[in-house]
Amino acid sequence: MNPWLLILLLALLAALLFIWSEQQKRRTGLPQGKVIYADSDQWQALTEPLYDPQLKLTGKPDYILRLQDGTRVPVEVKSTFAPAQPYANHIMQLAAYCLLLERESGQRPPYGLLRYRQQTFQVDYTPALELALRALISEIREVERQGEAPARSHAEASRCRGCGYRDICDQRL
Ligand code: SF4
Repeated sequence: MNPWLLILLLALLAALLFIWSEQQKRRTGLPQGKVIYADSDQWQALTEPLYDPQLKLTGKPDYILRLQDGTRVPVEVKSTFAPAQPYANHIMQLAAYCLLLERESGQRPPYGLLRYRQQTFQVDYTPALELALRALISEIREVERQGEAPARSHAEASRCRGCGYRDICDQRL
């Protein structure tokens, strides 16, 4: 296939995913982020990635925060300045980590933390957010099944590291 067509298709897919997730955010009332003060002294790194074989979902949050009752919540760090509200794709990425942590430990994280350069948001892991995440994963898997997913158009691991879809993209680097 013409490489420019592939690039165009990938850009179109990314735009559709972004629009879709923003629409989902409005329609399903995805949680708004709450600005909090977060002390990073308590954050711990995970040694191994998390994995859900049923959903074929894997990912590793930047950090884990252990709450007093032992529940672990994911912390995702972004190098960019904070928007007024976290981007929908970042919320989805955080939700994927919540789902993976719950699957591994049986304890549902009540929320996750999104740390931007100058601000940290607490995003509640609500049933509506989990539903929206599962719907997005199903939609992406369906596109993959139909063989319509465009191939990755680059070889830059840094782009994948900063991509909000890396945990549900099987072409990530
Ligand atoms: S993880 Fe990488 S390959 Fe997948 S959508 Fe994001 S940037 Fe593209």
